[in-house]
This record gives sequence, C-alpha cells and structure tokens, in this order.
Amino acid sequence: MNFQLKIGWLYPDLMSTYGDRGNIICLKRRCQWRRININVFNIDRDTREAEIAKCDLIMGGGAQDRQQSIVITDLHQKVSIYKEMFERGVPGLFVCGSPQLLGHYYMTGDGKELEGLGIFDFVTRHFGNDKPRCIGNTVGRLTGDWQFRVGNLRDTIVGFENHGGRTYLGKDVKPFAKVIKGYGNNGEDKTEGAVYKNVIACYFHGPFLPKNPHIADWLISKSLEIRYKKEIKLEPLDDTLEWKAHDFILKKLKVYKVESF
Ligand code: GLN
Repeated sequence: MNFQLKIGWLYPDLMSTYGDRGNIICLKRRCQWRRININVFNIDRDTREAEIAKCDLIMGGGAQDRQQSIVITDLHQKVSIYKEMFERGVPGLFVCGSPQLLGHYYMTGDGKELEGLGIFDFVTRHFGNDKPRCIGNTVGRLTGDWQFRVGNLRDTIVGFENHGGRTYLGKDVKPFAKVIKGYGNNGEDKTEGAVYKNVIACYFHGPFLPKNPHIADWLISKSLEIRYKKEIKLEPLDDTLEWKAHDFILKKLKVYKVESF
C-alpha cells in the first residue's frame, strides 16, 4: 500500500527563528526513504481551517516574543480545529515558543500576558532580568508511560535549549521527560516539556528530531496510525549517524549511563 502523510507546519516564516525547520526536513527525509508520500503544508495566517483539518501531524517551532505576539491572534481564531484534531489523536510536536502559546498563558519578557489556547495545563512566564535565560545543551530521560519500545532505542532525548520563559505544569498534564542536564521547563522541578494525548511540547531545539530519531519515527508512525486507523510498522532505517549525534551530546554532558529498552 502506498502511504501518504500531510504535515502541517505552523507559520514557517514567523516561527522558525531557532532552526526548527530541521525537524520538517528530517520527517520529510525519513518518510521519503520509506517511500511514504509526504506533503509539507505551510499553515499561515490566511490558511483556511478546512485545509488544516486534513493534516496528519502539526509541527510548531520556536520564535521570539514578537513573533509569538503576532501568531497568537490567528491561533485563537483556529483553536477549535486544533482542539478537535488533538482530541482525535492527531500528533503534534511543538518546540519552545510554540508550546508556550498552547498553555493557559505566556507572560513575555516585557510583562505582556498572551492568553494561550489552553490545550496544555501549564503556564509560562518570563522573569525578565530576575532569572537567567535558559541556554545550553540538554539531556532528558523520557518519563511515565511515554515509551518507545521499538527495537533497541534510547530512553534519552538530547537537544539545545534557549528560552527566557519558564513553564510550570498543572496537574492535568504529564512531563515529556525528566531533566538530566540543563534547565528544561523551569530550571527548578526537573520536568521537561509536556504530553497531552499524542501532542508533545518540548524545549529542545537542535533541531530536535535529527538527533532523536526515535521521536521522529514515533511521530511518523502515530500519524499513519491515526490516518489509516491501524498500526503500521515502519521499515527500519540505518540510524548510525543519528545515534552518533545523540550519543555525542550524552558524552559531552557526561551522561554515561544510557539505558536502552
Ligand atoms: N520567546 C520565548 C522565550 O524566550 C521562546 C524562545 C524560543 O522559542 N526559543 O522563552
């Protein structure tokens, strides 16, 4: 069977300040290598909801407060379609500036409160000059029932964070990972990111997916599963280079004990 996927990429011009377009390139290549027909669809302010609804996966990158203030208005106009899709199980990956807009609110560096979409039970606030910016290479260990029991894969994630906003999770949301190195959500409670249904929020740039092929493949297989209403086993790829990049960060940050399933 010839599988197809449509990836919705949120605001490519405004929300890719930190190189998160690498995640799109990664998904595209991993699909092409498996002969999955992949269509990357740019979601902009003039995109109609009916078009968004046809996407099998929604991707959002990071940006600065200024761009976040611009796109939040448009996101609010389309909130019902995103909520309907995520409830239906459509997966998403939102990195840094974009998930900050999906919580209850994001307070910007100059103290402006942007009301969020309320998809995730968390709040994010910037403390201006009172707290340092969270910058650097980072490692997390996947938590809870968030397991990637496919082959002999890592339970670690690696990335590079760069944020002033600090996220505090509410009781109705689970963290994506536990911080092993770096700041994660807020530099205090060791949580990193959040998961709601099949939607991942995280602070890991890098870009994230090329160095974390287990998460890239999880997103692809979940998207196929929701679209085709059955589990679809992905053809394995040679990820030697990808894991080298992953393990390089583990070594650099002196995380020696790498658990594998
Ligand atoms: N402007 C946000 C912050 O500083 C998001 C930054 C980002 O996406 N890396 O927290």
